[in-house]
Order: sequence, then structure tokens, then C-alpha cells
Amino acid sequence: MNRKFEVVVIGGGIIGCSIAYYLAKEKIDVAVLDSQKVGGKSTSAAAGMLGAHSEYKEFEHLYPFVRSSQLLYKELVHEIKDKSGIDIELKEGGILKLVYSEEEKRALQPILAHSTVEWMTASDVIEKVPVNASIIGAAYLKEDVHVTPTSACNGLSKTAQLNGASIFEYTEVAEIKKQDGHYVIHTAKGEFEACYVVVASGVWSNRFFQQLGLTNQIIPVKGECLAVINEGKPLDHTLFYNQNYIVQRNNNKLVIGATQKWNDWDERPTIGGIEEIIQKAKEMMPSITEMKIDSYWAGFRPMTFDGYPFIGAHPHGDNLFFAAGHQRNGILMAPATGKMIKDMIVGNQVDKTWVQAFQVDRRNKISL
Ligand SMILES: Cc1cc2nc3c(=O)[nH]c(=O)nc-3n(C[C@H](O)[C@H](O)[C@H](O)COP(=O)(O)OP(=O)(O)OC[C@H]3O[C@@H](n4cnc5c(N)ncnc54)[C@H](O)[C@@H]3O)c2cc1C
Repeated sequence: MNRKFEVVVIGGGIIGCSIAYYLAKEKIDVAVLDSQKVGGKSTSAAAGMLGAHSEYKEFEHLYPFVRSSQLLYKELVHEIKDKSGIDIELKEGGILKLVYSEEEKRALQPILAHSTVEWMTASDVIEKVPVNASIIGAAYLKEDVHVTPTSACNGLSKTAQLNGASIFEYTEVAEIKKQDGHYVIHTAKGEFEACYVVVASGVWSNRFFQQLGLTNQIIPVKGECLAVINEGKPLDHTLFYNQNYIVQRNNNKLVIGATQKWNDWDERPTIGGIEEIIQKAKEMMPSITEMKIDSYWAGFRPMTFDGYPFIGAHPHGDNLFFAAGHQRNGILMAPATGKMIKDMIVGNQVDKTWVQAFQVDRRNKISL
């Protein structure tokens, strides 16, 4: 078995798989090592919304980055399907951000100014979706479509493999060491060698920051979700209010999410958490009460000190990169992150604003 690669990516969530996808497309010899199954951790917990506009408040300065990532999905859906046969289940319809008062409507003005967003009156919304009649309308974010995160991750990893990448599952990395000008990656299944290393281990990246002399920290923001069976008409649009949402999957399931519990490292959902999201979902769509429960789960959003991911080189350079901490938008940002790391490795020019905003040692350095 070959254990020498040009690039080794540690972590096979959507971020690691996207990096492998873009590197393999350039014929770069890349391997992904994951301690479990590809896409099995935070990625599998996500709803899959590509909310470049719905998360606009968080990304005002970096809208071009998240928007470029959202647009890359339009290419990926075909590239992945043509090469691997995997459907990433990109579902059109976008998000209806429900509005219950004039004050809430005023707060949405910056998003409503986008040509891709339009205001919908209450009667227009109620005609389309079975929502609570007390709304005054909704911001219709038609470009904020969604994918099925595990299908997107599997599609990226499978296509990367078909382009020459190697994927090693159940291969936990213990340590990264520099030796004779290259990296030796110590794993539970022996050593790997690489010229470049990319740490993309989501909320579990902390051990590598520490090992590599950095104080960066990522904490989990635990999110609990529920899936129910919708036996009626499929929901044509995602319903969104105050960080809670109801998303129609490509089958008859609706995903209801999600709680936000800071620094909670327990991966099990709680009764209180599920109760909370059911209550919020009922306020948006009262008929949900009649639906049957399919499943429930929890996952960790990898959160950094300022909410932006770390995407870039180790402050000492040294062919060492990080791509972690994508919080509640890792599915959205995966393509642009993969492309940015690929561009940094091959030496292509990368937008300076993005480099500065995401740099690993930015604490106290920048004011966005
Ligand atoms: C409830 C919930 C809903 C969400 N909804 C959305 C959404 O609608 N849209 C959106 O854009 N984002 C959403 N997110 C956020 C998104 O899921 C994350 O930002 C994204 O999955 C992070 O991807 P990642 O690859 O960095 O992490 P992960 O998917 O966690 O991948 C990291 C990988 O690293 C591996 N790993 C860890 N340690 C090691 C080691 N030592 N050696 C080898 N491998 C290791 C793990 O096994 C794992 O597979 C949601 C998250 C949650 C929890």
C-alpha cells in the first residue's frame, strides 16, 4: 500500500473531502485520513442549507466568499454526477425567512436589497406553504437551496478517488511530525508521509493546533435535530425563523433543527433539546404536530473565537495548512474552502480579503 503522498488531509468531513476533490482534479497525489467513516461526524448532522443570504448578517463582509461557494455547487452537482453517479440531491426552492412584525422586516432590509431576494406577502406565502397565519410576510431567498450533506460529502470523496485520491477510513491520526524536510503522520494504522499536510478535523482540530505550537481553539456548538415523515404535499421551500428551520429532504422526510448549546461535548440529543425544536417548528408550521417521528440526532458545529473558519497556512508556513471551524455553514463553505486550499498549495492567487479574514493567527490582528 502506498503511504507517501504529496498532500495528506487529516479529516474526511465535507471540508477534507472538498479539499481532496479540488486537489485530485489538478492531478495532485492526495490522501484523506479519517478516524471513522467519511462524512460521519458534524457533516452527517447538518441540514444542508446553502444559506449565503440567510446567514448574511454573519457574512456581510465575506458575502462574495460564501456566494462563490454557493455557486460552485451548481457546477459540482453535474461534475459529481457525471463522474461518480452520485446525486448530491441539490433541491431548489430556497428559504422563506418568516416575518412576524414590521421590526423584523426592517432588520431584513440589507438582505432584501439583494437582487436574488424578494419580499413575499403573507397571503402569497400562505398559498404556497402551510405556515402560521400570524406572519406578515417572508423574505424569499430563492438562491439558498439545499443539498443532502452526506450525499455531497460522499460525492466529493468518491469523485476525488476516481480522480486518483486515496481515502483511508478508520485511520486515526495521533501526531504530525516534521522530519528531513517532509511530514510523517503517525496513525493507529502506521505511518504516512507527505510534503504538505492539511488539518481539516473539524471540532477535533484542537489537538493538532496544540501539537503544532498554536493556541487556536475550536469549541463545539451542539445542535439537536429531528426528522419527521411528511405524508402530505412536499414542502416546496425551507421555512426559517430565528435560527430554527424545517427542511424538506428529497424523500418524504422533513428535517427540523436545531438547538445551539455552547461547549457541550456530549453527542447525545436530549429530551429538552428535542422538545425545544418541536415547539419552535410548531410555531412556524402548526400541522407538524400530526407528523410521525422518523429519527433524531445531535452534532457539533465547529466554532472559532470570531465565528469565521481558520483557512490558511501555519504562521511559519512550512507547507502546513488548516481548514477548520466552519461553524453553522460548513456545508455552504466547503467548495470555496477546498478551492482556496488547493489554490494556496499550487501557488495560485487567492483573494486577499479572504486570506486575511480566515488566517490562522488573526487574533488581535484584524478588524473586519
Ligand atoms: C445540527 C447541525 C445543523 C447544521 N446545518 C448546516 C446547514 O444547514 N448548512 C451548513 O452549511 N452547515 C450546517 N452545519 C454545519 C456543518 O455541519 C459543519 O460546519 C461541517 O460539517 C464541518 O465540516 P468538517 O469537515 O469541518 O467537520 P466534520 O464533518 O466533523 O469532519 C471532521 C472529520 O475529522 C475526523 N477526525 C477527527 N479527528 C481525527 C483524527 N485525529 N484523525 C483522523 N480524522 C479525524 C472526524 O472523524 C470527522 O470525520 C450544521 C451543523 C449541525 C451540528
